[in-house]
Amino acid sequence: MANVGFIGLGVMGAPMALNILKGGHSLCVFDLNPDAVARLVQAGATACKSPREVGAASDFVVTMLPEPHHVEGAVLGKDGVAEGLRKGGIVIEMSTIDPTTSQRIGDELRARGMNLVDSPVGKTSEHAVSGTLTLMIGGEPEAIAAAEPVLDCMGDEKYYCGGPGMGHAMKITNNVLATTIMVANTEALALGLKCGLTLDLMQRVMRNTMAWNSQFSTAMPKKAFVGDASPGFAIDLAAKDVRLACELEERLGIESRIGRAGHAALKAASDAGYGARDTARLMFLLEEQLGVEARQTPEIRKAG
Ligand code: NAD
Repeated sequence: MANVGFIGLGVMGAPMALNILKGGHSLCVFDLNPDAVARLVQAGATACKSPREVGAASDFVVTMLPEPHHVEGAVLGKDGVAEGLRKGGIVIEMSTIDPTTSQRIGDELRARGMNLVDSPVGKTSEHAVSGTLTLMIGGEPEAIAAAEPVLDCMGDEKYYCGGPGMGHAMKITNNVLATTIMVANTEALALGLKCGLTLDLMQRVMRNTMAWNSQFSTAMPKKAFVGDASPGFAIDLAAKDVRLACELEERLGIESRIGRAGHAALKAASDAGYGARDTARLMFLLEEQLGVEARQTPEIRKAG
């Protein structure tokens, strides 16, 4: 069993850290939010005062933070993980960040005799709780093999995407598509509702056409269509993913028409004060603006 550190105990990080404890590893944790740390300590983790302290106590340090600059600061900044981690220690970066930042952090760690495995995650906070996340893994093969027992506590579906940063390249590619599909769903459904169609009818018809997609069939019925905006995937995080994808596209000479449009919709919701709320709030915002409501009837819910 390994000494594992965990930094970033939010909606995703807290249940992922709990699953590392359940896997029998010893765990030390750090988060800027003392309540988040207290909950993990109650479950058996040890609290650290800085990322450096987490590094010093660990063979592996998992980071699950909002933005690229948070990860860079926590790993390479003052009092960061790299100041404490032993040579041969491995950072497992699981946040959604861009591959360029991921590769830069990995290069710096390797120059100091440490290593980085990137393993951002797919699916939802429910899957974080059940330890059934999809893992998109990049890095050097020996480092990945060493990190595997820790990764196995959090996910049950592993995809090896290539060398350093390639897990993050896969995740950003996935998220620009998944998120813009969700934004497109809200706009199309609002149009149908405003025309006088019911959600039930639109679902019955579209499940047989090319409009059908997993956001419509799986994600939205769990939250948006039942009026649930409890914490899950925050609008600001979705906007960040699309922003990172657009920036990457620009650097690679790809015109990001769809990404930019999706980002504008997310930014409008954030500017309206809903940035910390679940992406289900996007649908509710359109409903309020247009005076319509996209709620599933029990019959259509049962039909699936
Ligand atoms: P969150 O906002 O719920 O949690 C982030 C945590 O990091 C918070 O507890 C915060 O206090 C802490 N934090 C922020 N800056 C810090 C710092 N400098 N040092 C230490 N702690 C710091 O976010 P989340 O939903 O758990 O998402 C985390 C990452 O995972 C993001 O990159 C997100 O895009 C990605 N992700 C989220 C989901 C989801 O459904 N929520 C799914 C897949 C991937």
